[in-house]
Amino acid sequence: MEQYDVIVVGGGIIGLCAAFAMKEAGVKRLLVIERAWCGQGSTSKATGGIRTQFSSPINVQLSLRGRDYFTRWEEIYGSDPGFHPIGYLFVTADEQRGETLLAQVPQQRALGVEVESLDNRDLHHIVPGMRQEDIRVALLTPRDGVADPGAAVMSVEAACRRQGIKILEHTPVQALVVQGTRITGVRTEAGDIFSSDRVLAATGAWTAPLLSTCGISVPISPHHRQVYRTLPVPDWPTRMPLSVDLDTGLYCHSDGPAVVFGGGDRDATAGYDDTPRPMDVANLIDALVYRWPRLAAAQIERTWAGLREMTPDDHGIVGMIPQRQGLYVAAGFSGHGFMQAPAVGEIIATLMTGQSSAYGLDALDPARFLGPTKGEAYVF
Ligand SMILES: Cc1cc2nc3c(=O)[nH]c(=O)nc-3n(C[C@H](O)[C@H](O)[C@H](O)COP(=O)(O)OP(=O)(O)OC[C@H]3O[C@@H](n4cnc5c(N)ncnc54)[C@H](O)[C@@H]3O)c2cc1C
Repeated sequence: MEQYDVIVVGGGIIGLCAAFAMKEAGVKRLLVIERAWCGQGSTSKATGGIRTQFSSPINVQLSLRGRDYFTRWEEIYGSDPGFHPIGYLFVTADEQRGETLLAQVPQQRALGVEVESLDNRDLHHIVPGMRQEDIRVALLTPRDGVADPGAAVMSVEAACRRQGIKILEHTPVQALVVQGTRITGVRTEAGDIFSSDRVLAATGAWTAPLLSTCGISVPISPHHRQVYRTLPVPDWPTRMPLSVDLDTGLYCHSDGPAVVFGGGDRDATAGYDDTPRPMDVANLIDALVYRWPRLAAAQIERTWAGLREMTPDDHGIVGMIPQRQGLYVAAGFSGHGFMQAPAVGEIIATLMTGQSSAYGLDALDPARFLGPTKGEAYVF
């Protein structure tokens, strides 16, 4: 039976960043077990947006730290993640929603976010073609942007392998193995047992079924999200911020001469089906064409879909499960796991090596759902 210091279940961006950070922090024998290819879960389906506008201080801090990694990614992980700091814009035509957003700005600035409030003239220059006469509040973070999730996850995987971390792909974990209240390892579908007194569940949208194998329940539910890419749009600006209309949940950004858009599906019923549903596009097109009338003639070239791993308060769940000594979780990032992954990796490394975290972790505590929690306002 192979023995490890830490076993990570899940080879997505969270599990791999955590494994890399643990190795850097001195954890020696590390095993990552992935049931498919690394990155094949939600990570490779993500849009790759990186933004620092949140209402919750911990979400701001994790994304700021994550963005810092994206600017130095190649130096840290060895290859280019395709990060483009094109900016990230939230707009609303709703007065009350606008007031809620503006109320967050002083806290965001105090935490180091360079957020700018735009008027209609600014909007005209920065996002030409956007209907703006009804917009009441527009907030831009110019240093945010988008990266390529496929490129990013592959570079972290390669960095992990170079560091001597063992990665087993095509190896589904069937169950977490416990003795009394202590974790002792994992059992794969093939019946192999790998031993460790510390196991990290970094299994994204599939974390609830994995933890249920040792009697633990976590409120992470899988929500379908679909993304669309158009054919090249004539005279479309090749560089504009990733823009979110918070009233409809629509987001949109340029991808060279094409446009990528999605969202508007936050209230969809939870479920594990992650196949594309082209029939869902009609409502979204209405929202898109309202905000960007010129896109009425755009044609969709490609659609893809994945699962977002949502929690009731739109914060990740990070830390040890109190009822199972040695069982840690880093999952449920509710649509912001790609951008937050490097910072989450650092947190896991501090927890596993007994150091104190630079962040207050109460808002991520696995036990927090026993009491009242505070939700995130910037969700779409
Ligand atoms: C369409 C879409 C757009 C998104 N856009 C953004 C965005 O713009 N910005 C952003 O920050 N985030 C975005 N997200 C969210 C982001 O993709 C996730 O938060 C992030 O990828 C989570 O990473 P993860 O490693 O936790 O999960 P995953 O990438 O899903 O990795 C978990 C891994 O665990 C494996 N696994 C599961 N069960 C087992 C098992 N029993 N045994 C072994 N392996 C197992 C899975 O195969 C998977 O590879 C988006 C998500 C979607 C679907």
